[in-house]
Order: sequence, then structure tokens, then C-alpha cells
Amino acid sequence: MINAMTSRTLLIQRLLLIMLLSYLTACTTLQLPKLPTKQQPIPSSPLNVKHVVLISVDGLRPDAINRDNAPHIYQLLQQGHYYTHAKTIGRSLTLPSHASMLTGLPVDIHRVVKNKPMPGYMKSPSIPTLLAKRDMTSAAFFSKKKMTYLFSPTQTNYMFGPGINGLEEKDTTAQLIAEDFKFMWGSAGYNFSFVHLREPDRSGHAYGWMSDDYLNRAIPSADNAVGSIIKTIQASRRAAMTLVIITADHGGKNNDHWHGREEDQRIPWIAYYPQLTQNSYSNEWVSTMDTAPTILYLLGKPIPKNMQGRVVEGFRDEKP
Ligand SMILES: [Zn+2]
Repeated sequence: MINAMTSRTLLIQRLLLIMLLSYLTACTTLQLPKLPTKQQPIPSSPLNVKHVVLISVDGLRPDAINRDNAPHIYQLLQQGHYYTHAKTIGRSLTLPSHASMLTGLPVDIHRVVKNKPMPGYMKSPSIPTLLAKRDMTSAAFFSKKKMTYLFSPTQTNYMFGPGINGLEEKDTTAQLIAEDFKFMWGSAGYNFSFVHLREPDRSGHAYGWMSDDYLNRAIPSADNAVGSIIKTIQASRRAAMTLVIITADHGGKNNDHWHGREEDQRIPWIAYYPQLTQNSYSNEWVSTMDTAPTILYLLGKPIPKNMQGRVVEGFRDEKP
């Protein structure tokens, strides 16, 4: 009787042991699902951004960027923080859109409605004007004459583009802009630099958005300039303190970009900073109006109360 009870107890103990061992084995061999390397918040760390280079590629659709036609932009997208849902303003024309990008304001406040060269410059302060009040320097390198309207000549330390120093629109190719950026930024290292490259927009109007010319000639020429600008930054002693943003004023479909279509509205928005976690993305919506407050915030400067854009997700909790 005792023997029978003992053997039954032993059997139960053995069974329990087997169950425990199988459980432990299962635990050690369990393959936890790999957490995505992407979609992670940018860690809160003191950023110490001293320079921002904002590159706007006129008419660049985010779905047109790929490893082959835009290897430099693609690399920034892969290595930086990529916002998959970014939009321009409803009035998706070059001048009104850039006015919103650089002021953080909607069209009914900055009132830049026309899309053609105009004398003087807009009343609403853009990033260079706001930074000049805080002893920071700015430069603007652009490829269309109408862009002069966005920058106060007395508060922008350096301007390069058509209408300035005898330059004409035919001169200001992406390549020339990249060369001038190398020459000027390499020595002066402005706190804020705006770079505007027009090639994809020109090609979209002439041959169609997503046409062979748009994808395989215009985007690569803008991308080469981006590569050269990145090279200039990386060769400087300011590289570790320089944040680069790649975006656009609008997308496009067929031969234009002002019908409020999804293809007109969606823009790329990529931030690359060497001190931040690489290879991450956010699918929170970003407006082009968020660009100005985000840049002011990153440079540690106050954001005017009337700005309607907000600091983009991922940077909001940072203490620059
Ligand atoms: Zn256009």
C-alpha cells in the first residue's frame, strides 16, 4: 500500500518535472516576435542642434523616391526619421506653400496667394527674420525668382538665386546651387539654411509627374545635389550639430499640382540628425506648417503664438 502510494507520488512528481522541463524548454526556445526597427520614438536626449539645413525639392512626390533614382535621399530616409504622412497646404502652389512652410502660417494669415515674382517681400516673418531677432544667421539658396518674396534681404544673411547678382533662372540648376552651398556653408555655417531645387517640378509640368523624365532624369539631378550638400555638411566640423530636413512644397499628377488630389497634397518629410536613433518612422500626420515651429524649437528659439503649425511628433519632448 505504502509502496503503491510512494510510486504514485513519484509518478506525479515525475510528471510535474516533465511538465516543468517542457515549459522551461519552450520558454528558452520561444522566438519572440522581432520588434520593428522602425516606428520608434526618437529618444529624449539633449539634441544640441546648432544648424538646420531645410531642403525643399519642388514637386517631389514621396512615392517617387527610391533606392535607384534618389540614392542620397533614400539613404536619409533609411537612416533618419521618416514621416510617412506629410501634407502641404490646400493651395498647393510653390509660393503659397513655401510661405506656409517658412512661416508656420496658413494662407489666410500670411496672404501669399499669388504664385509669381512680386516686388518686396511678405509681411509675415519667415524663419530667417525670426532667427535674426535672436542673433542667429540664415541663408537662402533657391532656383526660382519668385522665391525672393519669402526672404527679407536685411534679415537673411546670404541669398543666392535668380534676380540676385545678375543670376537668371536658367543658371540656378540643382548642381550650381549645391556648388554655391559648398562654397558658402562650408565657410559661414549658417544656423538656418533653406535650399530649393526645382528640377522635378519643371519635369512634371513638361513631361508629367511619374514620367520617365521626372523619375529618371529630374529626380536624380536633384538627388545628386542633395548628395553633394550632405557631403559638404559631413566634411565640416559642424556635422554632428547639423540637422537636415528633406521636404517639398507639393506633389503633382499628370502635368500639374493644384487640384487638391492626394498626389498633389502629399509631400516627403524626412529629418536626419547624426545624434538621433537611426532608421525609424512615424505615421503621425505632419503639415508643411509644422516645419517652421519645429526648426525654431530645435534651435532653442521661442515659437510665436500665432503659428498654427506645431512641433512634429518625436521632437516635441526634446529639450534642446
Ligand atoms: Zn509647379
